Amino acid sequence: MPTTKPRGRQFFANPGPTNIPDSVLRAMDRPSIDFNDPDFQEVYDEAFAGVKRVLRTSRHLFMYNASGHGAWEASLTNLLSPGDTILVLETGFFSDQWGEMAIGHGLTVRTLEADRRMGADLAALRTALAADAAGEIKAICAVHNETATGMMLPVDQIRAVIDATGHKALFLVDTISSLGSLDFRMDEWKIDCVVGGSQKGLMLPTGMSFTGVSDKGMEAHAGARLKRHYFDWTMMAKRPQKSFIGTLPVNLFYGLRESIRLLEDEGLDNVVARHTRLAEATRRAAAAPSTSGLATTGRNCIASIPPVIPIVSPPS
Ligand SMILES: *Cc1c(COP(=O)(O)O)cnc(C)c1O
Repeated sequence: MPTTKPRGRQFFANPGPTNIPDSVLRAMDRPSIDFNDPDFQEVYDEAFAGVKRVLRTSRHLFMYNASGHGAWEASLTNLLSPGDTILVLETGFFSDQWGEMAIGHGLTVRTLEADRRMGADLAALRTALAADAAGEIKAICAVHNETATGMMLPVDQIRAVIDATGHKALFLVDTISSLGSLDFRMDEWKIDCVVGGSQKGLMLPTGMSFTGVSDKGMEAHAGARLKRHYFDWTMMAKRPQKSFIGTLPVNLFYGLRESIRLLEDEGLDNVVARHTRLAEATRRAAAAPSTSGLATTGRNCIASIPPVIPIVSPPS
């Protein structure tokens, strides 16, 4: 352990919480303001609309004073009833944890097992859904980017499999570490509930999370009987801000408005291309035999990839 404190800024190389850009830090550095103040309402409305643009949805959005786990809980308790069965697509630690939470809430969890290096087996998913003629599976839960294993699920292809079998289950997607990093399209991919958080691709401090909800999700919510209160969408919809229960995290909203500005100034497609390029460089560095150390190999690998490589969009 070093005996002196490090000087200068620590660069935190972690998938989350991520480093926070200076302009986001500066945006949040301000005195408190009443969350009913019209000046704040303007910031709130801009940030709220911005999150919907980043999710690529025109549907419903509910936000929480909670890390991603809170939004997970909101997704389950607002959509399901005691004893309901859900199907979790195994990807790693986070898919396991979402399933554990579901069990804790009295749901029956089926897991579609997968090789943690390869991702979901779409043929097995098709078989599992086709075998469920009685429609016991009420929701399918998928983690878009499994932070623990580095695995990405092709959400659009999963949607296509669900459609091909005609299964009526709700489609829930965790985009906590993919939003602002990978191509993500809530409405186009007909996702019924998206779970997102503040401290990864959105480059904010931890403490805020949210769910985007489709119209089909809101219909399911009307009949969902799991117990909930702090995360209840019906209660939230009655609040002036149409979201949140209790005090809003006002300073985070100044940061959120700024982080969305950063993402949109660069352009969402360019942001995705940048992450895709760095990810590919990392893969090449890990695969390359190195005599000079991973860092040097990694730099050479980044140099070997053109600045803009096409976003990989798997054939549907
Ligand atoms: C970080 C993460 C979570 C958990 O979110 P918290 O904000 O730590 O509660 C869930 N899913 C994925 C994919 C994550 O990366």
